[in-house]
Parts: sequence; structure tokens; C-alpha cells
Amino acid sequence: MGQEKLYGYNGKIIRINLSKEKLTFEEVPRKWLDKYLGGRGLAARYYYEEISPYTSPLSPENKLIIMTGPLTGTSVWGSSKAHIVTKSPLTNIYTVSNAGGHFGAYIKKAGYDGIIIEGRASKPSYISIIDDEVKISNAEDLWGLKINEAHKVLLDKLGDNNGTAACIGPAGEKLSRIASVLVDFPGSRRGGSFGRGGIGAVMGSKNLKGILVSGSKEVEVAEPDKLSEYLRSNISLLRETTGYHTKYGTAQYVDSLYELGAFPLMNFTKTRVEEHLIAKLSSKVFREEFVVRDVACYRCPIACGKYARPSSEYQKDLRSKPEYETIWSFGPQCGVFDYNYIIAANNFADDYGLDGISTGYVIGFSMELYEKGILDRGKTNGLELRFGNEEALIELTIQIGERRGFGEKLADGAVRAAQSIGHNTEYYAMHVKGMELTAYEPRAFYGMGLAYATSSRGACHNIGGWTIRDELLKPKIDRYAVKGKGLLVKTIQDVRGYIDSLGLCTIPRRSLNLTDTPSPEVLKFVTGVEPNEDLNTIGERVYNLERMILNREGVRRRDDMLPKRLMIEPIPDGPAKGHVLSPEIFNAMLDEYYAVRKWSVDGVVSEDIKTALNLP
Ligand code: SF4
Repeated sequence: MGQEKLYGYNGKIIRINLSKEKLTFEEVPRKWLDKYLGGRGLAARYYYEEISPYTSPLSPENKLIIMTGPLTGTSVWGSSKAHIVTKSPLTNIYTVSNAGGHFGAYIKKAGYDGIIIEGRASKPSYISIIDDEVKISNAEDLWGLKINEAHKVLLDKLGDNNGTAACIGPAGEKLSRIASVLVDFPGSRRGGSFGRGGIGAVMGSKNLKGILVSGSKEVEVAEPDKLSEYLRSNISLLRETTGYHTKYGTAQYVDSLYELGAFPLMNFTKTRVEEHLIAKLSSKVFREEFVVRDVACYRCPIACGKYARPSSEYQKDLRSKPEYETIWSFGPQCGVFDYNYIIAANNFADDYGLDGISTGYVIGFSMELYEKGILDRGKTNGLELRFGNEEALIELTIQIGERRGFGEKLADGAVRAAQSIGHNTEYYAMHVKGMELTAYEPRAFYGMGLAYATSSRGACHNIGGWTIRDELLKPKIDRYAVKGKGLLVKTIQDVRGYIDSLGLCTIPRRSLNLTDTPSPEVLKFVTGVEPNEDLNTIGERVYNLERMILNREGVRRRDDMLPKRLMIEPIPDGPAKGHVLSPEIFNAMLDEYYAVRKWSVDGVVSEDIKTALNLP
């Protein structure tokens, strides 16, 4: 970049040490912005510098590194994202999570690009950032409040000013390793979450209930007229590429993934149920019978969030905003095919501040153990955990949030639950590096298995690579092919690396020409500077930096592995019947992946690629 005045950035961050009650305002090293853009990349660069491989996730030495990107808070659609990077208490390694909503935009409007929170407060506290006024305040009266209650108390402190907050609920306070941080008013007209990896527990370990942010500045853009014209001329492309998101949200994928035999049911034991059951989960039913309002992140015309309420008398006052993944986790993963209960369970997960994916996953996992006779009422505090027991789903979600009853056993995720239950039950825990799998059956499209295995944060379809479009929806490679999957996954991961570092949501990226062969026009209009290298190269640098961190924390090939079950048990039914990710298939894909990444056969970043990408 190389010019003095920064556009798209504020150029500074706040460092808040809760132990010392000390605030520092720091300039962001300019060369880091050039090399990592912002958001996920910039946060990883700080992590590389500041978090030792020996740091314990719930100790004061761990940090919450929150960063926005150059597009965050601008008029570019989808420019809502902030990222948190920290050491995960779920996986005990580096993790990264992003949230939309309004949190990132208000950090920018307050005049900062990011916040680093370190230490541990001596008593429950909250941070308020209102333009230049940054304070740490007592939150003893907030401790114990559910998420929406805590948000209300914090936002009331802003009076007439606009702003937002990121809060933990009781689950984060009780250090549940699947606790999340929720932004805005969760489940409401607004809202998003830093969901995965137990970031809520890191915040809880710091005695930090919430972060309140308000700002009055506009993010300065270098060429506002050209940016407006660019957005105007691309609006029809936006409508064309995201129309289904506006209508159905991510729920649209329930129909197509089920049809293709790639929608795992009941802890990955099947992909088929009676027609009348799956029909109840169609996106059309969701839209017509349950959605009451469309929800948009900061200045986003797509409004893919779908605010829903039960249509039956059951829990009719509850509201939540389930996504494709949480429809799956609280639904078919638990043998539940009724939106009334899915919306209700999702509502309770939000109330307590839980990651909806891991929470629903671990309930379905325990249901399989119950069906197998490994668990019984005596071991579940009286709960009959049969697949499809909707009341048990609701009760157990609340118990996990409160860390009581059988929920105490599940509140730290599937791996720790399996270790506590014993009887070799880890075989049934579908995870990679300690993070639970999501709503995609990798035996039905092999690239997804590679994406789960090599994701920078454990089993993840976002960071690891959303291969669904290229393998299933608009296939450009056979879903069962082995050759070519290494390159496919690397390409998608690198694209996601630069998108996340821009502070952009991935959904509208095609309408901004931010594809596999990106045009950086939109970034140039915002920053006024042509990036001096291809955006994919920056994405590749971000991914390699994350892998260097993971290598430093001990991650090797043995950790880039899928659950054993997926490698020996074929899918029993449906269009992908008989397919299995055998060790031969999986290792061939992994070898190719390491080769295209120029990593060693043990999955270590080579000196050559460090030099080529100018990495530390
Ligand atoms: S597309 Fe959806 S998730 Fe992305 S910024 Fe817009 S409303 Fe938020």
C-alpha cells in the first residue's frame, strides 16, 4: 500500500489488560495490513506474536484478539464481519470464529480496527467503548443473566446512542467449552455469534460478561462515488446470486443436501428417513409456516437471517434464528423433524450462550449411546434419550447451559463427554481435533472429508472449505473422485482466507467479483490502493500462518484425521449408499493436499513456502 492516509482502516487497536485495568492504544503495523489485510489474517498475525504454545486456554495468559477488516463497516454489502482468534478450550489449539450483525461495524465506527483483551478481571466486569471513552466497569449485577437480559442492560446504558454488545451467558460464566459469544440481540431482528471453539468460556475465564460498543464516526472510504457506482452496477448480479438466501436463508440447503444423500442423520448413522418426516423440514415449510421476519447484518440487503417462532402452542413465545447447521444439529442429528422444537432448542442455546452446532451435536451423540444401551436412565438422571425425544432435546439443552444433571457431562463437548462416559465411546464422537462435525456427510462427497480434516480449527465447513458447490450443487469435479480434491480444498480455503481478512461475509462475494480469480476493485475503491499482490496469495499466506501456529502447537498429520467410523463404516442407505472414506482414499487426498500446499508429508509448513509467502 505505502501511502500515509489510511482509508478503510482506522490504523489503531485498543489493548485492554483486565488484570492491571490498563488501556493502551496502539498503531497497527502497516506492513501487517499490507500482508494480511485485516480480520482473520491480522488476528492470526497478533496470535503468532503473542500466544505461546504453552498458554492454557482458560488462563489469564490467553487473549481474545478481535479484529475487523478494511471492508467492515463500509457500505459494501456483507461488510459486517469481525473475527476473534484465541486458544480454544475445546480443542486446546488456535481457533478463529467470526460474527456478523453489527459488532464489527461499531468497532470501526468507534475509531478502531480491533481490540485485544488480556489478563483476568478480579471481579465480573464489562468493557464499554464509546468513541474515545473506553472503560472497564463492574458487572456483578449482570453475572448470571441470560444473554438477552444482559444485552438489554448493557444497551440501555447507551441511552439514545446507537451501538451494540457482545455478551456471554451462564454457559460462558460456567466455563462450558462449547460456550459462545453472542452479538446484538441474539435470535432477534439483529444478532450473530462467535459460535465455535468455546470462545465464550475464554471470556468467562476473564470474568468478562460483555463488550459494549458505540461509535459516531463513518468509516472513511477513498473513492466513495466509484464505490457507489460499482455497487449499483452489480446489484442485479447480487440478486441473481443470493436470491435464495434472501428467501430461505441457509435453510435452503436442507432440501438439496438431503436429496443428494449428503445430509447426515442421527449421528451419521443414516441419510434416509420416512418421506413425511423429512418433508416437515423442507425450506418451503420453514419459510411459510415459521419465519416471521428477515434479519440483516449491518447494511446488508440480502437479509439471509430468518427470525422464526414455533407455529404450535408449544413454547409459542420463543423466538430464534436457526441456520442450516442448527436446523440439523437440533433436528435430524437428534432424530427430531419438527421446526417447533428446533426453534425452541435454538432459543435456549442462545439464552445460555451455547454454540448451537456443538450443543445439538453432543445431544444426538448421547442419544446414540442411549439407543445402544451404553447409557440408560440411571446414567442420564432419568432422561430417556431416544432419538426423536423432543422434550429430552429441550431439557438437555437447558441442562447443558446450566451445567447440571446429565448436561454437566455434555457441557464440554463430545470428546470430553466420551472420555467421561467411557466404554470406548469416542468411536461414536464425530470430531476432528476435538471439534464436532457439522451438517455435511463427508462420505457422500470426499472433498468435504479433506476439508474437515485440514481446517485450521478442527472440523469446520467454513474455514476448512465449503466444497458443497463444487462437488454437489454445481459440480465441477466428481464427488467421489480422489484426484483433484487436494487442489480443490486448498483453493477454497485460500479464497476464504482472503474473504475473512477483508471483513466480508462470504455469501455476496461473487457479486463483488471476489471469486477464485478475484478482481480487487472493491478493495481499491475502499482503500484507494491497488493491492500489490493477488488476493489469493494473501489468503494462502493467512492459511499458512495459521498452519505454522498449529505446527508450533504440535499439530501434525496424525491430527488431520477423520473419525475412524467414517473410514470403516459405509453409508447404509440413500444415493451415496456404500461409500466410505477408507484410509487409502483419505490418505491419497491428504498426500495430494500436502503436496499442493508444499507442506511436508507430516503436514508441516516448509521453509520454501514460508520464503515464497514472506512469512515470519
Ligand atoms: S448475507 Fe446474511 S450473514 Fe452475510 S452479511 Fe448479509 S445478512 Fe449477514
